[in-house]
Amino acid sequence: MGQVPDHRLIDGKAVRVEILEGVAAYISSVGGGDKVGYLASISIGDNPEVAIYIRNQAFGAKAAGIRFEQKLWPAEITLEECKRCILELNDDPEVLGVILQRPVPDHINVRSLQSAIHPLKDVEGMSPTSIGNIVYSDVALAPCTAAASVELIKRTGLALEGLEVVMIGHSEIVGKPIAFLLMAEGATVTVCHHMTRNLAMHSRRADVVVVAVGKAHLIGADMIKPGAAVIDIGINQIVDNDGTTRIVGDVDTDEVINVAGWITPVPGGVGPVTVAILMRNATIAHQRQRAAGWI
Ligand code: NAD
Repeated sequence: MGQVPDHRLIDGKAVRVEILEGVAAYISSVGGGDKVGYLASISIGDNPEVAIYIRNQAFGAKAAGIRFEQKLWPAEITLEECKRCILELNDDPEVLGVILQRPVPDHINVRSLQSAIHPLKDVEGMSPTSIGNIVYSDVALAPCTAAASVELIKRTGLALEGLEVVMIGHSEIVGKPIAFLLMAEGATVTVCHHMTRNLAMHSRRADVVVVAVGKAHLIGADMIKPGAAVIDIGINQIVDNDGTTRIVGDVDTDEVINVAGWITPVPGGVGPVTVAILMRNATIAHQRQRAAGWI
């Protein structure tokens, strides 16, 4: 990245370590990993993409002192069978939380499965109840990537009240929850998407630009106000001229870093924090299950 002023890069790995240390301290304060139950990770069919997520989550769980168990269900399993198995996990006091790895095979309705996960075990914050809660500003158990992005904005030290944020991307699991989380913190949020006219007109006036689109180099330096914070959620594989592949975000980091006040790198920004938030969500789930008298 050449002459990169390092202080502008927000180090997601350091934030991950800090959050996981907090989680590990909580887990030991309640008697250790054997006392809190395990995280059940469900994958349906074999998928190499999913294997990477699972490996990162298992690593995060280990660092936090939480047990992590993989459940690989066959690709031909029916929706009804999946729901029955999820209900069993909901009823099992040994299960602290349920993680549903995506993508799932085409014949499985992922929203229907997410609805089957009990809200007190929804460590991913993706069930309709969890999403609904954030609309009511109950944000403790939010979707992990969304919560990770807000966490990184907070690391800039910018006061969220009244902050002008432009959210680019409005998916159910990333863009929309981020908008609600930030509104709950008092930010003024504009949500842009593929039908937005003149994206740059919006992004250029923002104190914070959050991007979750999935298009490499969508955001250039001319689209960012000098000194603004840029949170890059995108994950794109690109092929360089010499044929090598690498992962980049949605932001042209090499250019934008010369304008922005803060920027998250890809990889090493939002991704590592997302896994740590999953573990933090597990501690919230534990507290709520206790408060509900389940454990
Ligand atoms: P999605 O495909 O569900 O949504 C894409 C969004 O981008 C939509 O709202 C669409 O309207 C918008 N969009 C498309 N083209 C646009 C354009 N030209 N201008 C403005 N908006 C445009 O994607 P998603 O699931 O929200 O994921 C977005 C990106 O974030 C992907 O690259 C994904 O891999 C990545 N992601 C990263 C993490 C992480 O932990 N770092 C987690 C989830 C997703």
